Amino acid sequence: MSEKVYDVLIIGAGPAGYTAAIYAARASLKTIMIAGDSPGGQLLLTSEVENFPGFKDGIMGPELMDEMKAQAVRFGTEMRTDFVTKVVLEGEIKKAWVGNDEYQAKTVIISTGASANWLGLENETRLMGKGISACATCDGFFFTDKHVVVVGGGDSAMEEALTLAKFASKVTIVHRRDEFRASKIMQQRVKDHEKIDIIWNSAVVDVLGDDFVSGVKLKDTNTDKETQFDCEGLFVAIGHTPATKLFADILPTNEKGYLEINHDTSTKIPGVFAAGDVADARYRQAITAAGEGCKAALEAEHYIESKV
Ligand code: NAP
Repeated sequence: MSEKVYDVLIIGAGPAGYTAAIYAARASLKTIMIAGDSPGGQLLLTSEVENFPGFKDGIMGPELMDEMKAQAVRFGTEMRTDFVTKVVLEGEIKKAWVGNDEYQAKTVIISTGASANWLGLENETRLMGKGISACATCDGFFFTDKHVVVVGGGDSAMEEALTLAKFASKVTIVHRRDEFRASKIMQQRVKDHEKIDIIWNSAVVDVLGDDFVSGVKLKDTNTDKETQFDCEGLFVAIGHTPATKLFADILPTNEKGYLEINHDTSTKIPGVFAAGDVADARYRQAITAAGEGCKAALEAEHYIESKV
């Protein structure tokens, strides 16, 4: 536990949190980041990041996060790898707890991100880790020469399918509508790939298999007809849920559960800012999260100056 009052307390360590830490610490603000148990956020689950400016040949997600962390620490950010369990955000001095350890700060930047959604099927839970995954980068290797199904129609589903196609003998994307919402370039890569095929207008309504996935039950979303489809793995890529539980009843959220913030990243509580996927249902990119983290740190600095 620390007795001191920090200038900036950052909760969550993805691109938004790290960028906020870099800016705050470099501005000589006493900065602490409480990073959760896997600092780096969703980019730890990403393979190559091709669209983060400055890396013309791309960079691996975990490597990008390591670099951001090192940069934040270089300017003096204190790091704690743990979960914040409680916050009190009203008032001049904000408080956050990790268990019994209390931290105090003049400003708080929330950058807790978002995590993968699941289908919510009983057998999905039962077979989790036994042929079911939400991370092709992490688990794709285990499906070498196997036939896998990917559920979803967004960029994540395209990315999962393309990653899996490096290992699997065949990848089938199952999508509930007759068009993808993914970006055109990702759609085209998927459609051009010889190992990937697509089943349109179908929902996965059950996962089959005793000890390991052996297939899925599909339901035609137009006719309700159910069929069994053999496969040896299921990757779920159906979007994300923002990590806002800690702030329930404290900060307003929109209809999708994302924190509501102003253009300058401020929340309704003075001195409390939010950045990155926790407040962004639309863009959800590493670069937009980093940009918001930068804004939040600059606004925190202005807020502290305004109180002097
Ligand atoms: P998303 O864009 O929200 O797409 C989720 C997909 O899952 C949609 O196709 C949706 O179907 C489907 N879905 C949702 N709930 C479902 C359910 N219960 N059963 C079956 N299907 C379901 O999420 P995302 O793909 O994770 O992408 C999130 C954001 O990150 C996007 O802005 C995306 O552009 C970005 N992203 C970018 C990259 C990249 O640039 N390399 C990579 C990954 C993600 P409907 O279409 O019918 O709603």
